[in-house]
Amino acid sequence: MSYVKDILLQLLFALTPFVLYNIYYRDKAIHFSKPFIVITCMICLLLSMTFPLSVEDGIIFDIRYVIMFFGLVFGGMTAGMILLLEFMAYRLSLGGAGLFSALIILSITFPLSLLLSFLYRRYSKWRMLIVLIAGLLFSVIPIGVMLVTERRYVMDNLTFNILAMPVQNSLGIWLLFTLFHKAVSDKQLYLDYLRIEKVDTINHVAASLAHEVRNPLTAVSGFLKLMRNEALSPEKTRQFIDICMEEIKRTELILSEYLSISKPGKRQYEPVDLSELSNAIVEIMTPYANMNNVHLSPFENGPDIRVSANPNEIKQLLINFLKNAIEACSSVSNGQVSIRVSREAHHAKIAILDNGIGMSKEQVDRLGIIYFSTKNKGTGVGLTYSYQLIRSMNGEVSVRSEPGKGTEFLISLPLLPAQSPPDAMRSITG
Ligand code: ADP
Ligand code: MG
Repeated sequence: MSYVKDILLQLLFALTPFVLYNIYYRDKAIHFSKPFIVITCMICLLLSMTFPLSVEDGIIFDIRYVIMFFGLVFGGMTAGMILLLEFMAYRLSLGGAGLFSALIILSITFPLSLLLSFLYRRYSKWRMLIVLIAGLLFSVIPIGVMLVTERRYVMDNLTFNILAMPVQNSLGIWLLFTLFHKAVSDKQLYLDYLRIEKVDTINHVAASLAHEVRNPLTAVSGFLKLMRNEALSPEKTRQFIDICMEEIKRTELILSEYLSISKPGKRQYEPVDLSELSNAIVEIMTPYANMNNVHLSPFENGPDIRVSANPNEIKQLLINFLKNAIEACSSVSNGQVSIRVSREAHHAKIAILDNGIGMSKEQVDRLGIIYFSTKNKGTGVGLTYSYQLIRSMNGEVSVRSEPGKGTEFLISLPLLPAQSPPDAMRSITG
């Protein structure tokens, strides 16, 4: 009965990849990486081999084969080889009577794990069965080998060998694979929704953009016609050309901002000026606001409010908040949405205000929870992603809302130190 504690401990170790995955990838809209699998499996292997089950000195049992199989399935051949090396080095340093048998068992289970991992990836329908067969084989093979190499030991501890090993391996492999698989497929579903939401946003913005681009084009063509048909003074001509250039420049700006949100960006963080950014986002979202009969206005924001962020991600974040605010105002008369950037001691504050339908306390409490949406065609991932992003930048977000009155989202992000003024300025300021 005392083995129950040891078995439970091994099962706890089998949870390592799942637990670390949930901690490390909680706020990240990305899949796990192979280095992540290698590191978590190495930790798991080390723990399970350091605290194994043992009834006789030098002969130890743990969930090593299960972990190596897991590493091969999710991390590929490189992960498998690294785990193999770790196992060999650690097992050789531990030594003891079971060393010889351990090496023989490994020479059978490792190629078998390779084959099973290949089958696992190839036949997705049979995955659960393959995992269970693996768990069983990882128990039967060691006992079979030890019946030859350590017959006396196996016979002396028959109940332990027949019960403890299969239970430990089967439960361990089942826990490890089902939980990790569940976490990964949940994340995949979320990433799929996120992609749909992004495409949806881009489509909505694009639809409204088409309208917005037509206006300056009409204006420009009107001026060009005028210049062709009328004999205008050189001064008038220059004035018209200036207006046309201004219109074209604005259209260009809107289009290039639009293109920047629709193409996948780099993953780097860099200093981002929030005032500039909020003005650009207002440019992008104005057509969408116009289409919904909502007035969107930027505040006069102070200069040089900079945070460290990925420009594409933070753009997407503000678009999510503004889009929600505009949608909340679409059914009210005289809908107003504004975005204000300000600075506090160590934080940049971004406030997104609207006088839309607002939210009840229950709705506010559910904000950020995945798939929560009150809209017919909503996905409910926009805010989840935005909240995660804010947390990953060490920021915070708070909400004040009243049904029928409106909503205010207040985002707080760590401020970057102000840029030092140019030399000329410095001499003036002292
Ligand atoms: P979606 O917009 O697809 O519904 P989001 O994650 O962007 O998903 O938003 C989740 C929910 O939060 C919305 O369905 C809406 O009920 C609520 N919400 C977000 N922003 C506002 C706002 N400014 N005013 C009122 N409700 C809002
Ligand atoms: Mg939304």
